[in-house]
Amino acid sequence: FTSAIVGALVALSIIALVLSLVRVEDVTLPPTVKYGMVFDAGSSHTSLFVYEWDSDKENNTGVVSQTLSCDVQGQGISSYANNPPEAGNSLRECLDKALQVVPAEKQRDVPAYLGATAGMRLLRYCCGIGGDSSDRAANSHCQDSMCPVLCILPREQNSSATEQVLAEVAKTMQEYPVAFKGARILTGEEEGAYGWITINYLLDSFTKYSPKAHTWLRPEAANIFGALDLGGASTQITFMPEGSVLSQNEASELTLYGYSYKIYTHSYLCYGQNEMLKRLAKELIVESSSSTRVQHPCYPKGYTETVSLSSFRASPCTGGSDPRLALGDSTVTLEGRGNASACLAALRKLFNFSACGQSQHCSFDGVYQPPVRGQFVAFSAFYYNFKFLNLTEGQPLAVVREAIEGLCTRSWEDLSSSYPKENPKRLPKYCANANYILTLLLDAYKFNETSWNNIIFQMKAGSADVGWTLGYMLNLTNMVPAEAPASLKGHRP
Ligand code: AMP
Repeated sequence: FTSAIVGALVALSIIALVLSLVRVEDVTLPPTVKYGMVFDAGSSHTSLFVYEWDSDKENNTGVVSQTLSCDVQGQGISSYANNPPEAGNSLRECLDKALQVVPAEKQRDVPAYLGATAGMRLLRYCCGIGGDSSDRAANSHCQDSMCPVLCILPREQNSSATEQVLAEVAKTMQEYPVAFKGARILTGEEEGAYGWITINYLLDSFTKYSPKAHTWLRPEAANIFGALDLGGASTQITFMPEGSVLSQNEASELTLYGYSYKIYTHSYLCYGQNEMLKRLAKELIVESSSSTRVQHPCYPKGYTETVSLSSFRASPCTGGSDPRLALGDSTVTLEGRGNASACLAALRKLFNFSACGQSQHCSFDGVYQPPVRGQFVAFSAFYYNFKFLNLTEGQPLAVVREAIEGLCTRSWEDLSSSYPKENPKRLPKYCANANYILTLLLDAYKFNETSWNNIIFQMKAGSADVGWTLGYMLNLTNMVPAEAPASLKGHRP
């Protein structure tokens, strides 16, 4: 009898144990990994980013990591204005790579976006379907006569090259087993704001869970980073100014994790580094009365580059009918002089500082900007150029100036033999780009000797690249909620 009771007790405890194990398993089911992907269709090239995160942490900060980044071969999608289907085809290689990193059973749930920036903004405005007011202001030189060059059809018949390119990239993305969510052109202000969200999300500055206090900590405004983005065709500055933003065009109010942020953001079309170089070359040529050999202060001594005058007419930031530019298809040879101070002086002329008059709250071209405040992360081409110069370690301004001057005085022969692995198209341009960065940050945005030290030149934060794509995906997938995470049931870190 006793052994029967013992047996029953043992059986009961085994059942209880099994039941408790089943229950434990119920609550501790491993979180599933979710994925999302965003194409950054920039002016000079397109990149695809694949992100992943744990499904149970969706509304926390800093939990998304980058699974893959893939560079699309060839130029940016705006360069396919004359052959839109090729814009779509150009994306295939990266889409195939993306499918290799996402498990097959999850692919259909992967939200997939494409965002195009300044290259397509320029094409859109010049091809006649509008563009926002800042595109138009920056592009008053866009002329109807440019449409045959930039657009496939004349303006009236054209549903626009822009729309066709976007339709083709959308078509390609829809052929893949992912959840296509749209292909569109971002406004410059969106580009700035999403870059700002990315940085502060990755650096955990919006809100942080304090395990000690068992609560989410209120963010310190002073710990929010500003964002400086330099692309090929446009540049963006975004930050939280001291007071309120006095111009509606540049003001955005975001509510994230229970707190409201009033940010200033402005995007300058035609002030990206590639367009800046074209504008500089055009000005130098015009100033020298269009002679066939023109001295270029920012190119290294011994380096020459031949440009055709028609290329200026075909490009939105240098196009339009400039009576100073000779007609016809003649070419001009630019001869490097390697003169840093003359380079800086020539670059300053690309900005209209006098349009600001006496206003303290103005950058250039009459654009409103409150004084810069707090720390900034400078990424994309800000980073690439300074990385080449080994200037991303927080060097003071005097050291930076000296390094740039030193680079500018090096001959082309010296540079090309010292950097055999460097892209030969990029190498001759670092002097111009670095001086442009100085002009933009110091003369235009008004950083000074002291606030210079608040700029961090960085391309990665945590495990992800810094850029607008992550912020864009977070926003569109509702992963940066307006409410504080503590009030979200079931979302504890
Ligand atoms: P985008 O993002 O296409 O508007 O381009 C940003 C700018 O950075 C362009 O002027 C590119 O030529 C330049 N760029 C992109 N990648 C690199 C790199 N690895 N090194 C130097 N410059 C780069």
